[in-house]
Amino acid sequence: MSYEHLLVAVDLTEECDPVIKRAMKLAEPTGAKVSLVHIVEPMAMAFGGDVPMDLSQLQQQQFDQAKERMDRLYAKYPGINRGDSHLKYGQPRQEIHQLATDEACDLIVVGSHGRHGLALLLGSTANDVLHGAPCDVLAVRLLKKD
Ligand code: AMP
Repeated sequence: MSYEHLLVAVDLTEECDPVIKRAMKLAEPTGAKVSLVHIVEPMAMAFGGDVPMDLSQLQQQQFDQAKERMDRLYAKYPGINRGDSHLKYGQPRQEIHQLATDEACDLIVVGSHGRHGLALLLGSTANDVLHGAPCDVLAVRLLKKD
């Protein structure tokens, strides 16, 4: 059985390149569809929801910057259809699962840092996405650059 629709979760750092490349290689032989998704996380959550300033402008900047970076990825990887890609606002696990369900994706592709020790206990997005996923999940191992 081959996959038909891959959903690639991108954090928009330079680390998303190996994740996208792996997904595209996997999709190539069967012509499977490849979609991208990035989730912009609510700022108020990061500040504990108790900040004496209006975050809406900052939030908009964050969103605009993410859109710009997504545009750069479409230019770099023409095999990905813009119409199939998504910029969402919310919590990564929840939004990625919802989108995978709505778009009938059969594989979610994420990057994984293969953390150990305390970092492993604290968890990662890859770990988070794996739990309760509505389809298969591929964690592409990201090598540490140090
Ligand atoms: P992390 O464990 O949080 O460093 O992220 C590992 C992987 O999770 C990344 O390579 C992406 O595939 C995915 N990821 C992390 N943050 C996001 C985000 N905001 N939106 C979409 N995918 C993300």
